[in-house]
Amino acid sequence: MKTGKVATVIGAATACAVAAVVVQRYVKKSRRWGRVMAILKELEEKCATPMWKLRQVADAMTVEMHAGLASEGGSKLKMLITYVDNLPTGNEEGLFYALDLGGTNFRVLRVQLGGKDGGIVSQDFTEVSIPPNLMVGTSDELFDYIAAELAKFVAQEDQKFQVPPGGRRELGFTFSFPVMQTSITSGNLIKWTKGFNIDDAVGKDVVAALTEAIQRQGLDMRVTALVNDTVGTLAGGRYTNKDVIAAVILGTGTNAAYVERAQAIPKWHGTLPKTGEMVINMEWGNFRSSHLPLTEYDSSLDAESLNPGEQIFEKIISGMYLGEIVRRVLCKMAEEALIFGDTVPSKLKVPFILRTPDMSAMHHDSSADLSVVGSKLKSILEIPGTPLEVRKVVVELCNIIATRGARLSAAGIFGILKKLGKDTISDVEGQKNVIAMDGGLYEHYSEYSQCLENTLHELVGEDVSKSVVIEHSNDGSGIGAALLAASHSQYLEG
Ligand code: ADP
Ligand code: MG
Repeated sequence: MKTGKVATVIGAATACAVAAVVVQRYVKKSRRWGRVMAILKELEEKCATPMWKLRQVADAMTVEMHAGLASEGGSKLKMLITYVDNLPTGNEEGLFYALDLGGTNFRVLRVQLGGKDGGIVSQDFTEVSIPPNLMVGTSDELFDYIAAELAKFVAQEDQKFQVPPGGRRELGFTFSFPVMQTSITSGNLIKWTKGFNIDDAVGKDVVAALTEAIQRQGLDMRVTALVNDTVGTLAGGRYTNKDVIAAVILGTGTNAAYVERAQAIPKWHGTLPKTGEMVINMEWGNFRSSHLPLTEYDSSLDAESLNPGEQIFEKIISGMYLGEIVRRVLCKMAEEALIFGDTVPSKLKVPFILRTPDMSAMHHDSSADLSVVGSKLKSILEIPGTPLEVRKVVVELCNIIATRGARLSAAGIFGILKKLGKDTISDVEGQKNVIAMDGGLYEHYSEYSQCLENTLHELVGEDVSKSVVIEHSNDGSGIGAALLAASHSQYLEG
């Protein structure tokens, strides 16, 4: 009896202690969970892009466009003159090459153009990834590597592609970094972006650098057009659709180009014609405005980037950064709210480990148990067995970051339409204003591209939205460069 009582007392005490631990854990867990939700809610508020804010952003874009056109250095937007004043007409004819460098991969293309009504008779390309060490090495190393691939491509081609005697192969060079051009065949690199950082190339003529590397390969080829991917996409889009007025790239980085009236370019003074049209390379990735919804995650990403203070628009809307922003928020949730348990998973601390394609895969996960999210967290961050509620938070996070990016891109496009006075034209006369779009982010992240299109239509309103068309210009940039090599050919008669 006595012992029984003691046992009961001990038992009760144990039960109490156990209950206390359970309650404590529960309270602790719910506190943590509360903290997770608070972080998520705060992010959502800071990233909010209501219509009035998007209109402010679009207006700021228009203002900066004017300022950048008025004077050199007048704006964060460089508004670079491209010397492309003759976009393809469809009459181009002959064999042309293009080299497309501007991100993680580069492409070499060959295009046979059939002249009026002939279109593109044949095209072929090869894609090569750039070894990361070459992205931060020397100019010669990078260009030699590229020229070697170009030489290989030419060496492997069919006999039928032989250039006529007396002629040389002509190349359009798509170089998608900010360049100050002095003609269609020369331009000095202003700065690197998208993870490239090759000091000895900055300020130098990139066509000269490529030409020298081509010569070192013993290849007989000349560069007849220097463009960037956005201008190439515009040219490629125009080749098939006369209503194309602008092009936007959403890939690793982001940029936009559009067709401007020559007389609307005050800084384009001197001997150059003041009539006609000129393609302007906006370099809109460098856009920034006090109206942009920025967060602590954006600030720290920027501060720790290769180019702090620059490319702020790019850092919140483009493919190189979206996944990294999500990682940064998850990191905070792991550190401050222990969302993944008592320790912060070490992989989660590795910058850029969560890439945008992975983010996109998680965002598009339509399975009931979010199994894609689970397996991505496991394979990339080495976090096994995440509960469903955690997976849901991850999806919501992806949604917040992608939505902000997509809606801000739409606001940027709306800014261009406003600059051109095409934000109020309905298609009563059947007039269309087509934006050629390309880039892996736009192409593969459908939640993003869908949101972008919906937002643009909302911004222009129902009437005008019928005249504003977004057209996917699949790999227009490479073909566009070849087309521009054709329209700027050294062998053109007259
Ligand atoms: P680049 O911009 O490097 O010239 P792309 O236009 O092909 O090349 O874009 C590649 C970028 O697109 C990747 O860096 C990535 O950010 C994004 N991307 C590629 N695939 C996907 C995907 N499935 N979902 C979301 N983003 C993607
Ligand atoms: Mg590209």
